[in-house]
Amino acid sequence: MIDSHVHLNREEFRGETADVMARARQAGVHGFLNVGYDLPSSRESLALAAAHPAIRATVGVHPHDAETIADATGQITSAGHEILAELTDLAARPEVVAIGEIGLDFFRDLSPRPAQYAAFTAQIKLADQVGLPVVLHVRDAWAEALAHLDEVGLPAKRGVLHAFSGDEAAVAWARERGFLLGIGGPVTYKKSRLPELVALAGVEQILLETDAPWLPPVPHRGQRNESAYLAHTLDKVASVLELAPAEVARRTTASFVRLFGALADPADRETTTAPPER
Ligand SMILES: [Zn+2]
Repeated sequence: MIDSHVHLNREEFRGETADVMARARQAGVHGFLNVGYDLPSSRESLALAAAHPAIRATVGVHPHDAETIADATGQITSAGHEILAELTDLAARPEVVAIGEIGLDFFRDLSPRPAQYAAFTAQIKLADQVGLPVVLHVRDAWAEALAHLDEVGLPAKRGVLHAFSGDEAAVAWARERGFLLGIGGPVTYKKSRLPELVALAGVEQILLETDAPWLPPVPHRGQRNESAYLAHTLDKVASVLELAPAEVARRTTASFVRLFGALADPADRETTTAPPER
């Protein structure tokens, strides 16, 4: 299976990438989509993907960092134009398979909302221009973000709603428009509504992700998350869907490959390999 959203470039993993990847492989994770969230992490993402055939990269600027692209009135700044130009260059590299993570975050509001909208709009258009799908980050802004996508125009290659935390209406929106839902550690949390939403969506509409080093699944809450722990999310999703874990691993991997393309590492094509017993 593939960890469809991870940040191996983070300092939490410094010097440990090889060990983290080895533990992941033992847990049945053979591929990684390393997601950028600002310009430096986008460059690091590409460097990781260039060094490891099992890793693919995304490049983009997170809503938290939208102010590096646009000002508080929603005007793209000259520094922002430079960042967008470099993202466009990076996106031309074959290791880069999506634009992200981009979106709206009204939970933390770390950048002014007009700046978030402007950065989001510019990067939706960038995705279409370079012919790539998007990895979306949305928090406490589901209605606004989905309406904005409809208004700006959906990227032709669609994408994934990472760390999905929307409601039934968001599941329906995604189904009607061909977007996938990224499901991670929170599906294992006691009070989460995600199990019923995963059941509503069905296996064909989801991708598995860790968002490591963040959002660890039970029983690793409070620890640094890593890709090996995706096995716990897989087990939970499989039990919700009443499918065998190996079946969920196979079908979500197939969905990943349809959206983002195959990984370069031949070992990662063992998509039918059952995860080991745990
Ligand atoms: Zn992330």
